[in-house]
Amino acid sequence: MPICQSCDHHWSWKTTFKKAFSFKRRMKCPNCKEVQYASTKSMRKSGIIGLFPAPIIIFSSMVLKLNLGVTILVAILILMVITITYPNTLELSNEEEPLW
Ligand SMILES: [Zn+2]
Repeated sequence: MPICQSCDHHWSWKTTFKKAFSFKRRMKCPNCKEVQYASTKSMRKSGIIGLFPAPIIIFSSMVLKLNLGVTILVAILILMVITITYPNTLELSNEEEPLW
């Protein structure tokens, strides 16, 4: 779980989930109210995790000749796993870091 770089407060899964899915890089710490940013490292990590499953789903549905319903179901399941585990990969930074 992310730790506030300002006050060392450990954000809960619920807090992180809510803040992360407001789709803003700026997130206020619930403890010290300081603005925190998703670190570049964690943004890259979540980008890779987010993009990685799509080609695998498409490829395996072609190889295994899965029907569309099964493919969609698998895609939804993977998306749910990514969504649920996303707060675990988030790291915070005091300053907005450039993406690259
Ligand atoms: Zn804090």
